[in-house]
Amino acid sequence: MTAYPNLLKPLDLGFTTLPNRVLMGSMHTGNEDRAKDFDKLAAYFAERARGGVGLIVTGGFSPNLAGSLYPFSSKLTTHREARDHRTITQAVHENGGKIAVQLLHAGRYGYHPFTVSASALKSPISKFRPRALSDRGVRAQVDAFARATALAREAGYDGIEIMGSEGYFINQFLAPRTNKRTDGWGGTPENRRRIAVEVVRRCREAAGPDFVLIYRLSMLDLVEDGQTWDEVVALGQEVEAAGATIINTGIGWHEARVPTIVTSVPRAAFTNVTAKLRPHVGIPVVTSNRINMPQVAEEVLARGDADMVSMARPFLADPEWVRKAETGRSDEINTCIACNQACLDHTFALKKASCMVNPRAGNETTLRLLPTRRAKRVAVVGAGPAGLAAATSLAERGHAVELFEADDDIGGQFAIARRIPGKEEFAETIRYYRRRIELTGVKLHLNRKADTDTLADFDEVVLATGVTPRIPEIPGVEHALSYVDVVRRGAPVGDRVAVIGAGGIGVDVTEFLTHTSLDLDGWRSEWGVTDPAQVRGGVTAPKPVKPARQVYLLQRKSSKIGKGLGKTTGWVHRAALAAKGVEQLTGVNYERIDERGVHISFGPKRERPRVLEVDTVVVCAGQESVRDLVDVLAERGVVTHVIGGADVAAELDAKRAIDQGTRLAATI
Ligand code: NAP
Ligand code: SF4
Repeated sequence: MTAYPNLLKPLDLGFTTLPNRVLMGSMHTGNEDRAKDFDKLAAYFAERARGGVGLIVTGGFSPNLAGSLYPFSSKLTTHREARDHRTITQAVHENGGKIAVQLLHAGRYGYHPFTVSASALKSPISKFRPRALSDRGVRAQVDAFARATALAREAGYDGIEIMGSEGYFINQFLAPRTNKRTDGWGGTPENRRRIAVEVVRRCREAAGPDFVLIYRLSMLDLVEDGQTWDEVVALGQEVEAAGATIINTGIGWHEARVPTIVTSVPRAAFTNVTAKLRPHVGIPVVTSNRINMPQVAEEVLARGDADMVSMARPFLADPEWVRKAETGRSDEINTCIACNQACLDHTFALKKASCMVNPRAGNETTLRLLPTRRAKRVAVVGAGPAGLAAATSLAERGHAVELFEADDDIGGQFAIARRIPGKEEFAETIRYYRRRIELTGVKLHLNRKADTDTLADFDEVVLATGVTPRIPEIPGVEHALSYVDVVRRGAPVGDRVAVIGAGGIGVDVTEFLTHTSLDLDGWRSEWGVTDPAQVRGGVTAPKPVKPARQVYLLQRKSSKIGKGLGKTTGWVHRAALAAKGVEQLTGVNYERIDERGVHISFGPKRERPRVLEVDTVVVCAGQESVRDLVDVLAERGVVTHVIGGADVAAELDAKRAIDQGTRLAATI
């Protein structure tokens, strides 16, 4: 008897049956653009197919040059390209999986001079103004989709997904925001959706009846002048009639100012939208966004919100997600914590995507944890992300590993992060490692500072001793608390607070101090998410909740606060700070701290002196590496490796720490 009967139930599509209700959603990995990387892509998908995913969807491939995302990006336009794709389809089929290719026409989101769209309206995320297509031009794009579908079949795919959401080309025709045409492809709702329906009809014709055709439908545009709910329903019904097999859910355009996938978005926050469409169509509907664990997926399906769930990032984090759910091992799942740090932030920087909690993602052919031929006794000091990754990976390879942690629990900086509102998911990584320690047989010593004599007994030592908060030289700094005191140790904080240092942790601490607990409706109202039956696009003015505390967030640099935060997450933090009325001061000199508060001035000439009269000052001024064991162990001739924050504190970052710990473990 499974705990997930709805999730693991097969789905009969008439001409084929999917083994379960799990769709691996489309995600660009950076290996799509050149055929020479298809071996890596094949290995990546093969692992996920072996892991039991019901249906995989690839990253987006453009049906023609005009639809490319950027110059020389992935496309499916020739027989030769179709032949190259066989490497991918064969690998998936050999591993028992099914795979559809996503056809994505970027329209005005393309980052090149040859972009086209319904109207010549520049998007806020590309500097290139698109050319408005003629009637003939629109028909040529439809032809391109049909041709790409035939090529997909030739390449051995089991289906296609037509990208009709997220503000891409087809979505640009659907919404009055971007479609100002007065011909047969614009004006009335019927005309605006004509291209979507034509594309589905022609792709079905090109594919034949026994081919999965997923249409990704923007159910909530989350931009002004998006679609109304009536238009969404009519579109769903017409794409069904035109030959779609499955409707997948798209939430929010890329230019929307509502967070839809970052970690602070509540789990399954948007499945109600899919649920609302489901009774209006006769084909299976897939829901998506912030579903990351089997229990969440099961609840969504049991509630009847959808027929399938789509997850993309969770399969970067753990290729065996489905297999673990099937075999009662959900507690072994390496959960996607929706941080975006190694996946989407990389994609937007045109780097290869991987995963912060699973550095093997995208590196399947190069980063392997093979059994060791010579087992060693290895001590790992420090159970933060770097130490946990190293210890468990070493033990998995067959080494005898002992892990020493001075604190009373594992987690390191993640034990702080998980206490930040909106970052609760970080607790999942700690749970994952706790279980992996048990499974791999790592001997864990908590509340134990490892001494040199103990360590000298091991064949090799890995120092992952982490960091200590930096105490800046400000007169009176002894009156201040550190972020560890406040977040981890629960030190009392007054109603007026100054936060010194506005890096990732200063911003997190400010969110911690200004947080108001909200239910899902409260979260929607805070970000202005509403019903598209009431307001076009389903977005209205945000209604932030005023926090109980007044917080000042300070930095010495004169640049914008939060500049160094992730591309896909930084804007969410900045919007939240503004909404909470946090006073952000830059170019600050810290003169002194006393019982009145923080005395500051501005600029190199120390102008405009000001006293911030606060009850509490919290220091978030970065960290320094803890390396006191490095030299003593070297003197004793112990083979020592230094990783994570103990190696480089200036770039203290969990992505580097886990990657470094895993890669080191692969080589010992
Ligand atoms: P950080 O990003 O290096 O920021 C440290 C802050 O302290 C800066 O604002 C810096 O700006 C200030 N500072 C440095 N030395 C100072 C001094 N002597 N006196 C006064 N102020 C000083 O470090 P962090 O905030 O501790 O974050 C550490 C790492 O954790 C980050 O690099 C990031 O990778 C990760 N992290 C990221 C996030 C996120 O992306 N949301 C969240 C948490 C942590 P000024 O010198 O201009 O004052
Ligand atoms: Fe999920 Fe973060 Fe990994 Fe991306 S990098 S897949 S968001 S855990």
